[in-house]
Amino acid sequence: MELCVNWSKAIPRFIEDFNHFKNPPDYFITFPDISAGSSFTGGGYLFIGAVIHNWMEGNFIQPCPGCERDIHVLRAGCLLSGDGYWVGICPYCGLVKSQSKAMEVVLKGSIRGNWSNELGYKPIIQKESPYRFSIKEGLTRDGDKEETRMDVPGWLAFMQENYPDCLE
Ligand SMILES: [Zn+2]
Repeated sequence: MELCVNWSKAIPRFIEDFNHFKNPPDYFITFPDISAGSSFTGGGYLFIGAVIHNWMEGNFIQPCPGCERDIHVLRAGCLLSGDGYWVGICPYCGLVKSQSKAMEVVLKGSIRGNWSNELGYKPIIQKESPYRFSIKEGLTRDGDKEETRMDVPGWLAFMQENYPDCLE
């Protein structure tokens, strides 16, 4: 697995900077490396704000099978049978993949549902018909729905601007 984000560097920085990620639009940034899901809940790319929160709460954390240190999970998937896997970063062993407790990793905490099938997700923040005013008709609404999407930065542009030292 090739990573463009150096997660060993980025994870502690993101946790330290949680205040910047806990609200939109940065909350909704999605990364190609970070996803979760199951055969019965669906899944997708996780919102980074939810991921950092769950790292901090110890939910998206697993003990390293090699050294017992805390692994920050990046990806997890499971089936109803409980079979599955997760991939995360151990500060000592690096990138680790395991099949242990995959369902717990996906379901524990508030990761579930905080995801999108689409990388670069931009939630709809307003869906209103705009009002128009004319002397003849007064204030009227036309039938067209106006759809505004939140301007969530793309992960690469965001990293280049804010954490260029965490890219490789
Ligand atoms: Zn380890």
